Amino acid sequence: MSASQRLRALRARSRELGADAVLLSAPADVRWASGFTTPADAKVVVTPDAATLVTDDRYTAQAAEESAIEVLIAGGHRQLDEILERVAGLRLAVQADHLTWKVARDIEERLGGPPLATEGLTRPLRLVKSPDEIERLREAARLTDAAFAHVLDGTLRAGVREVDVALEIERFVRQNGGEGMAFDVIVAGGHRSAMPHGVASGRVLERGDLVTLDFGARVDGYHADMTRAVAIGPVAEPLRGWFDAVLRAQEEAVAAIRPGLSGVDGDKVARDRLEEAGLADLFVHSLGHGVGLQIHEGPSLSSRSTDVLASGMVVTVEPGVYRPGVGGLRIEDLVLVTDDGHEVLSRSPKAYVEV
Ligand code: ZN
Ligand code: ZN
Repeated sequence: MSASQRLRALRARSRELGADAVLLSAPADVRWASGFTTPADAKVVVTPDAATLVTDDRYTAQAAEESAIEVLIAGGHRQLDEILERVAGLRLAVQADHLTWKVARDIEERLGGPPLATEGLTRPLRLVKSPDEIERLREAARLTDAAFAHVLDGTLRAGVREVDVALEIERFVRQNGGEGMAFDVIVAGGHRSAMPHGVASGRVLERGDLVTLDFGARVDGYHADMTRAVAIGPVAEPLRGWFDAVLRAQEEAVAAIRPGLSGVDGDKVARDRLEEAGLADLFVHSLGHGVGLQIHEGPSLSSRSTDVLASGMVVTVEPGVYRPGVGGLRIEDLVLVTDDGHEVLSRSPKAYVEV
């Protein structure tokens, strides 16, 4: 979607919600609407006939260079006044799931009444990715694969600390064109692998560990997300058997991805396989999530999802099992929904491997 198509979609969405102006404050949405790469320090205001990026004078040059929409430089107390001046007489929608209570109160006070509080304002607009967004996600996945191959080739071994593996992944990504990491790199071996989000610690990897590595490169604001489980020497039961069960569930769930599949049914494919293996109780999270300008966005693949997959959506498929005191693992790919099925963007091998 071009910037003007995005604004058109945003205006239609705000009308649908009963507003005729929108104040975007969630960073991913500010970036989506404007292209500005420091969106946490900016807002976007969209009215029926104007769209403006509002930021402060630290960003005068950067905003002029990056923004696809008009730029207004106004910092401090003046910023909100300027924004409200532009929406005078209009019904203003704000992002209740992002705006702070304080700013919401300030707006209410100055408008003499509450703005329209919305949740998930841009969610439906960002579900299907445009070709240029898919290109960036593809590049982020490619860089993620390259970083994995790099640490598999020597770094990842017994005697190395989790944090050293994480730093090497991060260094590789930054040095090869990545903007940064999608989230804090997860490297969790031994008992720590029972933590679904075990951010790398100072623990030293030992023989017999099954190490979960979950990370992604960020390219032009777009996130990749991939998990692999790697054995440091032979891994004992029950983890060895769990690996095969999770891999099978993951592969079957990936194979099911296509337009028309509901988030509930996608989740169920993996859950049923793990149920057959007697491991459903250990699969404590949902199967997957959409990825784009945010690491977690729509659509959702879960037992409570109301989403249905469509061509152009990009989702993760990531079953995992975890037992505190024992360990666990997860296997995750980034998957693009295509017209006739899917394309797996994560290319790293995922079969059981010992280093
Ligand atoms: Zn992940
Ligand atoms: Zn994920």
